[in-house]
Amino acid sequence: MRSEKHPVNGRRRARLSITTWFAPVSCVAACALSCAAILAQSDAGRAAGAGEQIPVERAAAAVCAERELDPRGSAPIDMMQDRASLPARHPEVLAGAARAARLLPVAKALAAESLSALMAEGAVAPATRRASLARVEAVRRIRLDVSLRDNASIVYDDPRAIRFGTIFVASLRSDEAMLSVMAHELTHAADGARGSLKPLFRRVARRAEAGAGMRQISSRRGEELTCDLIGVMAARLFIARHASDEPEARRAARAVEHNCVERDETDAAHLSPRETMRALLALAPVYAAQVTGESDTYAGGAPLNHTAPRTELPAPRTSRVAPRSPRRITRARPTTNDNTTRRPTQ
Ligand SMILES: [Zn+2]
Repeated sequence: MRSEKHPVNGRRRARLSITTWFAPVSCVAACALSCAAILAQSDAGRAAGAGEQIPVERAAAAVCAERELDPRGSAPIDMMQDRASLPARHPEVLAGAARAARLLPVAKALAAESLSALMAEGAVAPATRRASLARVEAVRRIRLDVSLRDNASIVYDDPRAIRFGTIFVASLRSDEAMLSVMAHELTHAADGARGSLKPLFRRVARRAEAGAGMRQISSRRGEELTCDLIGVMAARLFIARHASDEPEARRAARAVEHNCVERDETDAAHLSPRETMRALLALAPVYAAQVTGESDTYAGGAPLNHTAPRTELPAPRTSRVAPRSPRRITRARPTTNDNTTRRPTQ
């Protein structure tokens, strides 16, 4: 019943892309407006013309420079892969698991908001949208799995939990990075065992091909790219609504900085980490300006709606985290109608 495993880490990365979407039907008006504003920002940036865009390589360099200076910077995926296994009771693991549990309600709300906008723009049928958002809402727990190492996953016979490898959860040391990864996983949950969002994933893949000049992006990679897109969108909403003394560029970089690898390896399900980062920065020029600290002067961007309803951050707690014995992750798609098949994430 278990599918194979899906390495979330070395192969998962962050992806972002931003496109233009309309107000989500299932969101309250204010939420829809704020999310649409972020998306429209990106689209406006693209429309501003290539000559005004931040060069992708410069933006990628800015992301990785911020990571190195950031005391809360995420470890790059290849560095995570080189780490020895961490026990579930390791202090870094417990701290990461507590962060994930604390952020789960916020991640669900922002992932749902971002996904609503994307699904509306992609003309996803209302019934499919509602079912997808219900699957996001159904996620209730964070589970630790030592064997997942630097991966995270959604398993379809237990879709109420996001599973984290202990190395991975310990390596995401900021709220922004954790929230981005959780939104990624929640997008897999939204898709469900039957892959109801496949057409949406294809649409995002086609946009990435056109916007970043990439060769054909496979269906599986399109799914991962879409999950990363939702991760970046959710992180941007989080940054806009939750004030911090930290520089915006540093906070924004956290959404994708785990892609700052030296070994830029890939697999069938993911673009390579650096490819992913470049694709996202090319598709989201306003985000690229944000990570270089030029969002105030970038011609393509309109101000984010900071007045949108804030998602309250719950107080830290660890009770939702349930360390478990090692399990496998997976990413394979069900080959039958067996809804218990698990799907990997990241
Ligand atoms: Zn994934």
